[in-house]
Amino acid sequence: MSDAPLLRDTERTTGRSALQNNIQAAMALAGAVRSTLGPRGLDKLLIDDDGRTLVTNDGVTVLESAKVEHPVARMMINASSVQDKIARDGTTSTVLLSAEMLQNAWHLVTQDVHPAVIARGFRMAETHAHEILDEFSLASEQHHRLLATRTSLAGKGHQSMQLLLSELAVQAAETILVQTPDGTVADPTRVKVLPQSGGTISDTRLVTGLVLAKNRIHDEMPRVVGAGKVLLVDGGIERRSMKSDMKINVTSPGVLEQFRAKEVELLTEQVEHLKSLGIRLLACKEGIDDEARILLAEAGIQAFRRVSRSDLDLLARGCGAILVNDVIRAQRSDLGAFISSTNENWAGVAHWIVETEEGGATLIACGSTETVLGEVERSFADALGVACRMFEDDRLLAGGGATHVALARRLRRFAESIPGREQLGAEAFADALEVIPRVLAENAGLDPIDTLLQLVAQQVNGGENAHQLGLDVVLRQPANMIESGVLEPFLIIRQSIAGATEAAISILRIDDVLWAKQDPTMPDVEQTG
Ligand code: ADP
Ligand code: MG
Repeated sequence: MSDAPLLRDTERTTGRSALQNNIQAAMALAGAVRSTLGPRGLDKLLIDDDGRTLVTNDGVTVLESAKVEHPVARMMINASSVQDKIARDGTTSTVLLSAEMLQNAWHLVTQDVHPAVIARGFRMAETHAHEILDEFSLASEQHHRLLATRTSLAGKGHQSMQLLLSELAVQAAETILVQTPDGTVADPTRVKVLPQSGGTISDTRLVTGLVLAKNRIHDEMPRVVGAGKVLLVDGGIERRSMKSDMKINVTSPGVLEQFRAKEVELLTEQVEHLKSLGIRLLACKEGIDDEARILLAEAGIQAFRRVSRSDLDLLARGCGAILVNDVIRAQRSDLGAFISSTNENWAGVAHWIVETEEGGATLIACGSTETVLGEVERSFADALGVACRMFEDDRLLAGGGATHVALARRLRRFAESIPGREQLGAEAFADALEVIPRVLAENAGLDPIDTLLQLVAQQVNGGENAHQLGLDVVLRQPANMIESGVLEPFLIIRQSIAGATEAAISILRIDDVLWAKQDPTMPDVEQTG
């Protein structure tokens, strides 16, 4: 029976040709980011629909901004995004590994090995890889943290920027550490980034506390306030606006005055309530009316208005306050504590700096142009993510392809112990890992095959720490990567291998693609409307 009537307007590819198509899509995608890998990787210029440009070296940024329609390519991009979310780095590696696994699998499929068998082989190899990685890992010492954070910035910007941003990222991570029953937690969302155009990258600095580009609402309010209580309002201290389209009919003289007097009375009542709570600092999401502004200044309360909700949330976390909607209903238990609150003028722009007990920090990101500033922000976010993860799990692995080469060698030996055809899958998996040192060599202008052979030979004769021998692209020759300072957090490598395997296996398991065709002549509903 034909399925033609059922699957009208649907393009269907099955079996091998479906797999071949999908693998080609995966490889094309990997091809797009291949040249960005490693410290010698080059940048990409991305231009969006509106003509905005972005220069980046970051794999996941390239992929997420690309308009990719192929569903399999989208699966790979998802793997890369997940890697970004979980480990903050290793996004290019994940895509390269996954595509290489698929390419190797394709060679086996052409020799009549069933994709499901290959997938099982991959799974066995990956499970074993985790054990080997545990064995390779080493506990980090304090100076390693900086090195590992720096490795995550390899290829992004110039070296002085990498050094500066990684130092700031480690410092920032330290200030936001919290001890919980489950161990140390460092939440990167507690670090705010305040971009400032003008100046150069070297002006970028870290300030403990939260910094907002805001001025206190009255010059007579104190510029500096010492430790005290703060109230955060998810609203304002304003006259109530009319709910509906109401008209007030003024019938006798004096009614309007009374009406206004009542409004002022309500505002005064709110300020009196704030005074009775004993606060020294006030931040509102909405406005503060003039009458209240003067009263607050007289009361010596430092106040800020139009503070965004996200900043209020950050403040609330830092000082342990609860946001209130209505000032009159605020209670003592809603208040938070701060160490100091200062209004300062930096290059003509007012800044408000609040230091709180629970830490929190702000990076004042500087750059001469928007493009530079964007890259500083993105690089810092990556470095910070890596630094935070390092405080949670401090194990390290050698970078520069060292771990990948060593793992491949061990996995080939492991594959030999598998009796069935899965052995071929496990071998293909092991071979795929070598794509990392090959591409690193390629991007550094070295011969990928010679470099890989050299690395393997050195590891074979390398003794106890052989698994730390990788390609130092600065020296342009194999070296002990721990000594060269090219270290990677355990989580990044482990997660990138796991994510790549996951994506490769799910693509291997597809043998039927049903693609609903869209008829280009069909008018868009919105357009006709
Ligand atoms: P990803 O998006 O996968 O993190 P990167 O472009 O950041 O891609 O490159 C990361 C790779 O570069 C890692 O394998 C890392 O070990 C390697 N690397 C970083 N610095 C060096 C170096 N100095 N020498 C050799 N390899 C390096
Ligand atoms: Mg990286």
